Amino acid sequence: MLSIFVEASCNRYVRDECRFCHVYAPLQPILESKEYWHMMPDTAELMAEKIRSIEPLNDLAKQEINLTGGEASQNPHIVEVYKIFRTLSDNVRLHTNLDINSEKSKRWERLVEITKLRGRIDITLYPTVWESRQQPFLEKIIQLQDGLIVNLIYESLEDLLKQIKILEEFFIHQDKKKFAPVIELLNEFSDRLRKTMKTNPVCREDDFLNGMGNLENYVSCPGGFVFAVNAIPSFHVNPKGVRDMTSLPFPQDIYKVECTAVRGVIEIMTILQTGEMTPCCDVGNLGCKPKFGNLLADSPEVILQKFGVSQKLMASGALKNLKNIESGKAGEWVEEGIPPFCV
Ligand code: SF4
Repeated sequence: MLSIFVEASCNRYVRDECRFCHVYAPLQPILESKEYWHMMPDTAELMAEKIRSIEPLNDLAKQEINLTGGEASQNPHIVEVYKIFRTLSDNVRLHTNLDINSEKSKRWERLVEITKLRGRIDITLYPTVWESRQQPFLEKIIQLQDGLIVNLIYESLEDLLKQIKILEEFFIHQDKKKFAPVIELLNEFSDRLRKTMKTNPVCREDDFLNGMGNLENYVSCPGGFVFAVNAIPSFHVNPKGVRDMTSLPFPQDIYKVECTAVRGVIEIMTILQTGEMTPCCDVGNLGCKPKFGNLLADSPEVILQKFGVSQKLMASGALKNLKNIESGKAGEWVEEGIPPFCV
């Protein structure tokens, strides 16, 4: 999957529940120069052209392109940008906060336009604006497309349970027959979660995962609608944009980041508006130093060469990280510049 940042601004950066927003600080330099807030279609063209000529990136694009930011729907050129990336992949999704005022909003019109072009809209749920803003629009979104991913960013298990219940309640009031498997999945999710919370009041991450067991996070509905829910623990991000290595719901556990690039496989590539690339979700808050090149500035040959060099660096850094973790030196930075808990 390619995760491409197409917009630096977001209408939610200033809201209370976004105080630990993991992209705000890393995107701040772009936000300071208003000129580069929105990805322009000519930049998208240039990126698409490069992606096409770099095999590993082209393969990832074919699987899925996720247009994100900032709030992607705030980009006035997003429909054009979408069409450009659509030439690379049949599976282009756009991630939105769906925190939209009215159906007359340009942002809403852009989302509708993208669904007509067979793009998919995914959301993050925000409880404080759920009833007033997200819910009415989500009702329409599920009529416009045949799939949906909902991200739930949770600060505690109570918070997660509350969000699952919001979703469950929502689908109970939609076409019950069509969404029966979704309701069943959410019901099972909340049952298992409640049980874990009851038996393990001071729940560690392993307890949580054991409690969830083999429950899949997606289901198919009659008629082909595919629904997926991602529960993502939130992290404290300090004002300098550096992420804590323990998540808020599981403060007793160090969050190890399994780096696939270390193992020679790139499953996801995050591409910032500036063209900078990282083979994971890091937008700068993990502080990963090895560079995978700049999609806008570097030639395909230089990018491929940087892939090779950085993957070797990461493999060696990850080995040292593991040794440090085992020998009581957890948290120390290694000279390869990969974050201390990337293994
Ligand atoms: S080393 Fe860590 S931060 Fe760097 S790419 Fe891998 S997972 Fe991401």
